[in-house]
Parts: sequence; C-alpha cells; structure tokens
Amino acid sequence: MNDRIKKLLEDLNDLDHDMAAITYTESLLGFDSMTTASKDGVSARSEVISFVSTLYFNTLINPRVDRLLKELSDVYNELDDLSKAKYNYFRREYEKISPIPVKEYADYQSLLVESSNAWEEAKNANDFSIFAPYLKKVIDTTKRFIDHRGYEGHPYNTLLNDYEPGVTVDMLDGFFEELKASIVPLVQRIQEKPKPNTSFLSNTFSIDEQEAFSLYIMESLGFRMDGGSLSESEHPFTQNMSPDDVRITTHFHENDLINPIFSTIHETGHGLYEQNISKSIGFSCLATGVSMGIHESQSRLYENNFGRNSAFWQAHMPKLKELFPNELKDISIQDFIRATNKVEPSLIRIDADEVTYPLHIMVRYELEKMLMEEDVDIQELPKLWADKYEQYVGVRPTTEAEGILQDVHWSEGLMGYFPSYALGSAYAAQFEHAMEKELSVDECLKHGDMKTLLDWLAHHIHQYGSTITPSEIIQRATGEAFNPKYFTDYLVKKYSLLYGLKE
Ligand code: ZN
Repeated sequence: MNDRIKKLLEDLNDLDHDMAAITYTESLLGFDSMTTASKDGVSARSEVISFVSTLYFNTLINPRVDRLLKELSDVYNELDDLSKAKYNYFRREYEKISPIPVKEYADYQSLLVESSNAWEEAKNANDFSIFAPYLKKVIDTTKRFIDHRGYEGHPYNTLLNDYEPGVTVDMLDGFFEELKASIVPLVQRIQEKPKPNTSFLSNTFSIDEQEAFSLYIMESLGFRMDGGSLSESEHPFTQNMSPDDVRITTHFHENDLINPIFSTIHETGHGLYEQNISKSIGFSCLATGVSMGIHESQSRLYENNFGRNSAFWQAHMPKLKELFPNELKDISIQDFIRATNKVEPSLIRIDADEVTYPLHIMVRYELEKMLMEEDVDIQELPKLWADKYEQYVGVRPTTEAEGILQDVHWSEGLMGYFPSYALGSAYAAQFEHAMEKELSVDECLKHGDMKTLLDWLAHHIHQYGSTITPSEIIQRATGEAFNPKYFTDYLVKKYSLLYGLKE
C-alpha cells in the first residue's frame, strides 16, 4: 500500500472513530431520556442533544471530508473490504445531508420538535386539526429535501433507501400485491373459524415473576447479560452502545402476560444481532445492524417464528408454570399457542397479530407513496386513512386517535420507515427457510437448543454488522435474492394448521 492510501485510510478511520463516538453519545442520551431521565430535566437535555447533533453534522459535512471522500473514490479498487465498506457508509451519509442547505436542515430539526409536540397534543385530544399544519410542513420539507437530494425512478425511493438500502417502489408494489393476494383471503377464512380462548391471559400476573421470566428467557435465547441489560420503558426498544453494551427494554402489565413476554423476546432478537457483530470491525459506525429491515427480521424471527411456536414452549412452559402455577394451572401448550397466535383485524398497528400486521403497513405505504407523488389535501388524510383500513384490514376507525394519529413516525419525519417492518417479517421467513436446509428448527426449539440457531444467525447475518448490504446478506445467507413467497407460504402453512383450514 502506498503512503498516499495509507494516509487516506488513517483519515477515514479517524472520521469513523469520531462519528462512532458521537453516535454512541446520541444513543446514550436517547436511552437515558426513554428510561431514567427526569421529566423536568428536558430543557438541559435538549441543549445537550442539540449540541451533539450539531457536532455530528459539522464532523461529517465539511470541506475536509468532502476532499477525503473524493480522493478515496479515486483509489477505491485498491482498498481492503472493510475500508471500502466504511467509504460506502460515509459516502451515503454525506450524500444524505450535504445537498441540504444548513439553514433548512436546522429549521427542519426545530420543526420536528414542534410537530412531535403537536402530534402528542392532537392524539390526546383526538383532533387531527391540531397536528395537520405541522404534518403539512413536514411533508413539504421532506419533498423539498428529496428535490435537493435527487432520486432515481420515484421520489419515495430516496426515503425508502434511508432505512432499507436498495429497496424501491417497484419492488415494494410487487411485494405488497403478493401479500394482499394471500393474506386478505387467509384472514377471511380464519374469521369463519371459532376464536381461541384468550381469557386466561388477562389474569393477574405478578410483575416480579414476569421480570424473572424475562431475564430467564433472555439468557435462554443466548443474550449475554454481561454485555447488556434489561430495563423498563413505556414502549419497548433496543439501544446498542457497542456489541458489548446492548440495552433492551420491555414493559410489564399486571393484567397481561403475553405482550411483556413477546416484547422481551422481540427486543432480545434485536439485541442478539447487535451482540454478535464481529469484534474485527472494532469501534466503528459499521459495528451495528445494517438496516431496519434486517434488524426487524431478527426480532420477528425470535418473536414469531421461534417464540409463537409450540416446539419453543415445550422447552420453556415448565419455567413459566413454575412462576405462575395457579394462573396457568389448566393451560396446555396448545391452549397457550392458540391464544398467542389469535388473528383478528384491529385498528392499532402495534397490537396487531402476525397475519394482519402487514396490512397495517400496506395502508401506510400507499399513503406515503401518494403523499410523495401528488399534492394531497392534508384535510383529506384522515378519511383516506379510514378508507384504506376498511378496504385492506376490514375495520374502520371511528376516531382520529385510533386512526391517522396512532403512530409517532410522521411527526418525527420518519417517512419511508414503515415498509421495513413488513420486510423484516418477510426476510425472517426466508432466513428460516434457509436454516431448515441445514438443521431442524423445531428440534432445536423443542430441546431448548437456542445456541445452534443463534450460531447460524451469527454466522450468516449478525457478524457482518454494516459491512455488507441488506441484499448481500440475504443472497449469502439464503442463496437467492429476496423472495416474499417464503413469507406468504409460512403464514398460510402456520395458520392453516392452527385454525384447521385446508391449505
Ligand atoms: Zn423491533
């Protein structure tokens, strides 16, 4: 390697180091404000958050980095794989932010704070008109940013790529068509069958015992407790500082056994991904999950494919019954599994079952796409939302709080994010199908052998962190490109069996 390349790589690694340290700080501040930080401390906290995000911007967007990226692109073919991945990562980040004038970027950050507050107020008051003017500004700004940044094919593609690199409107149109064609009739057939008994799930379950089970299940799945932690927050989430410090949260309810358990399993799936990223990447912006979709594939694989499976409970029901001997006295694994896989069209996305969930995402996808290609009258949005719910999910919201105001995402400018949730479930099914070629998932689950499953995932997915793209991960792990058929096959097979339908 010549001296010039050596020097460029030193600069690239310095940039990576500084950006990783800033990102670490942002993560820590984010985790803190969602868990233990006091409500009254918000003003000092916002000062620090704003300071750190300005630092992020200034460290990345400056003539020195511009020059560095240009010079690296000249010698790209001579770089090692990790340096190529770092270059690609910073090139993407740079191109995302640099075309936007500094003043517009700063104004947008302030707008997002105001719009989040307006959303919260609107949701509490069940009144979209409070949020509407802010949402309009967020949409207009998002569209202006797309103009600055440019796009290929469809303006929405630019947003989709921020969360799931490589995904396009063309691809998602086909994906959702395929889901619609198989899920809508599946839900109809399930609706004709008797509903499973779920009444025992709302007995009173002591929080201490629930916490004990959460810790037990995290360890059983292979989560290293010395390399992470479990806390409680209003909405469960995972925050990674580094592969050796992965913090997950859950939320316990005294009258709900299921959501806390499956939230813990879901977040542990995210956590395992982060914990098993290769140490060889070092302290770097690349030492984290590559995309929202791949991340969600890991959490959903654990939650739904593994966790909502009777084989899994053959290994873990004894522990659950030991903690709740009276509450679950007459409950069999089959009762438990049928109850935890109850399918029912509903209004709220985060409470939706595995089958109807993608339909909730389809509504948001179609609306976001429409917002990006047309001038939609903002006042019409609640009605458009309700119409689409009625059409796809089969239920119509009667309030705005249960309809268009239910999700925080748009108020935070997160457009293009929702599709990654549905992609995650579909990726999970494709990964599971690939695993099945080498091992029996059910046999592992039945015997509590989570290590064999984790080793497969760590080897094929986790270890790479962000050093290869989502589509490369799918191709390498499964031997083919993304194919939604595995997901629809999985749903039809699983739910036909559970509900006694003919396949
Ligand atoms: Zn998740």
